[in-house]
Parts: sequence; structure tokens; C-alpha cells
Amino acid sequence: MKYADLVAAYERLDATTKRTELRDVLAELVRSSTIGELPAVLFLSQGQLRPEYEGVELGVADSLARRAVAEATGVEAPEVLVAQQRSGDLGLTVEELKLRNARSASTPALSVAEVYEKLRAVADARGAGSQEVKVQALVELLARSEPVEAKYLVRFVLGQLRLGVREMTILDALAVAFGDGTKESRRRIEDAFNVSSDLGLVAQTISKGGLDALASIHLEVGRPIRPMLAERSPDLADVLKRMEGAAALEMKYDGLRVQAHIATDGSVRLFSRRLEEIGDQFPELRPALAAAVQHRPAIVEGECVAVDSDTDEIRPFQEISRRRGRKYDLERMQSEIPVSIFLFDVLLDGTTETATLPFPDRRRSLERLIVPGERVRLADQQLVHSVEEAQAYFDRCIAAGGEGVMAKSLAPESAYRAGARGFWWIKYKREYTHGLADSVDGVVVGAFYGKGRRAGRYGALLMAVYDPDQDQFETFCKVGSGFDDATLQALPARLTPFELDSEDPKVRTSLTADRWMRPGLVLEIRGAELTLSPTHPAALGKLRVGFGLALRFPRFTGRFRDDKGPTDATTAQELVRLYQSQVKQASPEEPSA
Ligand code: ATP
Repeated sequence: MKYADLVAAYERLDATTKRTELRDVLAELVRSSTIGELPAVLFLSQGQLRPEYEGVELGVADSLARRAVAEATGVEAPEVLVAQQRSGDLGLTVEELKLRNARSASTPALSVAEVYEKLRAVADARGAGSQEVKVQALVELLARSEPVEAKYLVRFVLGQLRLGVREMTILDALAVAFGDGTKESRRRIEDAFNVSSDLGLVAQTISKGGLDALASIHLEVGRPIRPMLAERSPDLADVLKRMEGAAALEMKYDGLRVQAHIATDGSVRLFSRRLEEIGDQFPELRPALAAAVQHRPAIVEGECVAVDSDTDEIRPFQEISRRRGRKYDLERMQSEIPVSIFLFDVLLDGTTETATLPFPDRRRSLERLIVPGERVRLADQQLVHSVEEAQAYFDRCIAAGGEGVMAKSLAPESAYRAGARGFWWIKYKREYTHGLADSVDGVVVGAFYGKGRRAGRYGALLMAVYDPDQDQFETFCKVGSGFDDATLQALPARLTPFELDSEDPKVRTSLTADRWMRPGLVLEIRGAELTLSPTHPAALGKLRVGFGLALRFPRFTGRFRDDKGPTDATTAQELVRLYQSQVKQASPEEPSA
């Protein structure tokens, strides 16, 4: 495929935010790609080079891209900078500059394969002299490209492609291109993605062998599985009713979810809830896990929490969060904030794929697989058959430093459901016992300048939930409480990468922010109650025509959910369920903003 053909599709993608239109353009692209080209076409359209979990980054800063543009167009770098400042988009700038002096007719047109290979070379260049290698590769690409191609190349390298192509839309497109149009075929494609987290692999497999070939995609050590997620219940009686009278209750540890892959040779890779590789942040867990598992290879899941080395008590989330994302002082932090992982599931046990087994069988397999020690332990668990037993266990978990309990279904259908949220797992937390059931993970979509003591800084943030059906972000509150001075001080730096000049097309709100933000940063918000709102469009019309949902007295808990991307935030559908589970529902006569 010529790169120009891909770019022509980008122009069409750029012109719409409708999920069905995006899907149809992508389906056409997929149909006109060869099997070999498919991964490149799909990854490039998402603004990446490889599946997210591989963490492949181009490492091209703004200044480096500007240098490449200057060299490729023969315009002095300061002039490029001025033009970039005027347009606010180096992509538009390079397009304009290239329009001034057309590409010579003798230069061969770029192919998708060439562009992809060159960009991989840019990403792979490391160490001394790598900046020069990156610049030269970009210059070569830009020099050979048409103006519109150069625009998208520059946006890609700066991480500003933003065509609105999400994984779920690509799965829709694959279903249109290769499926039989049924929900069942869409589900099979998504299942294959959930166990492999690799859209390139899924696309190539289905394109080569049709839907049936997807059965060949299995769990593989080193390739993370999309995590199984839990639903909520308003009380323990409801939990037991949904689980038909009996359930395995486990302590709900308040830490970081970790998926551990232990290879046959004993090497260990750790993945976060977002499937980022985080092994380097917790180096002590690697040898501990390699020693604890009795059969290799293995894939196990657990919650990593800080533990007091003197008392063995579980420490609050704030402590382990100090180790997340850390690149320096690793050794000091290991002794200052020791961690343990509490394992709660096993997906691969030696050569047996346990993910397909019911939960009780998986737990037995986990107990046989693991020899617990100080760093690697098993999640505490108890089988319960009555609300009284469940309540007593819940109270014990809270006393032991847990956040609540996770109830797990014992039914024969309780297989591990990668990437799915369902009632096979139900979370029941302490805060459900008073006020609003659970906090909300909201996405920042805008900010308001502060007044008084906060003049010159941001005073409040406009928060949204995610609606996966519409692929849009719908606001539910403005939050200004709960920020301490240090957080307020650090906020602008955290928000800068997301700042936009105008409202993101995927945001729905009736408010006008002082500064718009691209949905990206996720914050945990707590509030007094959810009310029907004529102002906020979260879950608009789902409960009452013309009303959305708003959170009253919202407060930032102090917890940045860096382990969640914008589409992992609380969904509009979850907000509706939270509203419905409130003991006292607000009267629609008194809607609040
Ligand atoms: P979600 O993961 O459901 O989107 P979240 O990340 O906000 O929500 P919670 O609502 O706190 O997390 O509940 C689910 C999380 O609880 C799991 O993703 C996991 O990290 C954690 N967890 C703690 N203990 C357990 C356990 N015993 N079994 C399963 N998950 C557990």
C-alpha cells in the first residue's frame, strides 16, 4: 500500500468523530491491506508502532522534529519555530512549507512498509549519536513525502495524530471486514484481542485463516492479557443473591494490580492494570516470584501492596504509590517501602491454560503452584454461605487493612473473562457502607482558573465519565476540593501535555472551560451523592429525558489513577448503576448542577 493511500484514509478519519464512519473507513483500509501490511496500517493509525504493552516509543521531542522539518524543507530552524507558533501544529507547518516547494517528480512515492520500517529505526536508535540517527531518518522520510503526508508524519512522531481510532473501533472494523456481521463474530474477535492484547496479531490471523483461525491465539508468556474486571453491589445480601447463595470472598487489597509472567528460564515480566511493563519499579518481586512458582511457565495475577516489615501489617495505598513510576532511588525505596504481592488468580500453570477453568479450580491450582513467602503470598480467602458469614469476613478484612472484599463466583461458568466487567467478580468496599457507593474515576476534560488564594493557578477541573457506546466523554462535575497545596502547585505540569486550544470533539458538556484538555488524565473523585442534572450530560436521558447525572460535593481523593487510561475511567453506564444503588435517590425537582 502506498503511504498516500493511508493518508487519504486519515483525511477521512480526521473529518469525522462518528464511530460508525471511523469503522467503515478502517474496514476499507483493512480490506485493501496485504496480510504483511496489516499490523503497520493498524498501529500507525492508532498513533503507535507496536501493541501498547511493548512500550515502544519514538523518543522524538518537539525540537528534534523541528530540526528534521528545517533540514527537509531547507528552511532555517528559527523560521520553522515562528511558523509553528503561528499554526500551533508542526504538522500544518511542514505541510505549508512543503507546498511552497513541490517534491521533484523523480522521487519515488513512499510505501506504508517503508514508512513503518524507518519509524521503527527511529524508535530503536539509542545511546550516543542516536539523536542524529533519528533526525536523519525523519529528514529522509519528510524529504520524500508529499505535503499532506508530511503533515501526518510529523503529527505521528510528536504523538499528535489523534484520529480517534481506538482499539474497540478497530475490532468493529475487523468484524465488518472479515466477520459475518453477527454479534458472535464480533465477540470472537474481541476475545482473541483480550487474551493477546495485540491487534496486529488478531488482524493477521483473521485475514489469513478467517474467524476459525482465531482459536489458534492462546495465552503466551510475555504477552499480557487484558484484565478481568468486577461489578459492584450495594450490599452483601445482593452479592450473595447474585452468586446463588455461596461465594468465595477475598480480602480486597488496596494497592496496584500486577500480572506476572514467569518464563521457563525463570525470567519475570510484570504488567500493570494498563498492561505497561512495571518490573523495573519492583525489582525484588522478580526473583521472589521465580522462586515461588513450582511450574514454569506461569502467568499469575495479584495485588501488590506496601507491607510493614516489622509488624507485617498492610500499609495504605499512598505508600505503594510512591514506588510507582519511579526510575531513581530504587534501592532506597525497596528498603523504605517494602512490598508484597498477594496473588488471587492463575491463568497459566506450566503448560495448562487455567484461564478457562472455573474459579474454584483456578484457586486450587494457584495453591498448588505457589510456595508462599515474605514477598509472594496468597490472597486471603473464605467461602461464605450467608450474609452473616460474609459480614463477619468483611469486618475482619477492614480491620486487617483491606479496602473491602472481592466476591468471586463459584459457578461452573466462572472462567477468567479477559477484558470483561461482569458479576462473576463483585467488589464491595468500605465506603459503600456510608454515603455514595464507591468513588468515581473521572477524566479531566477542562480546567478553570482559580480565584482568591488560587489566582494564577487552576482552581477547579471539569470531570467526565466515558461512554464506550458513543466513544465520548460526558461531564458529571467540576471538582475544586481535595487538592492540597503541593498538588495544586504540580497540577499545571501534569496537565500541560493535555492542553488544547478548543474543546476535544469527543467531549460532551454544556460548560465552557477556561482551558480545554484532551481526555487523558484520570483522577479518583468522591462525592456525597449523584443527582439528576440539567447541566451535566453524563448518561443523558438514561434515567430521565433531558437530565444527566451530576456528583454533588465532589472531592479529589488525592489519588491520580495513572494506572488507568481515559477509556478505563468510570463509564456512564456504571454511573447509572451507582445512582440506582444509592439508598436515597435525589428528587428530580431539585436537580443540582
Ligand atoms: P476496576 O479495576 O474495577 O476498573 P478500580 O481499578 O478502580 O476498578 P477497584 O474498584 O478498587 O479498582 O476494584 C478492582 C480492583 O481491586 C482490581 O482491579 C484489583 O486491582 C484489586 N483487588 C484487590 N484485591 C483483589 C482480589 N482479592 N481479587 C481481585 N482483585 C483485587
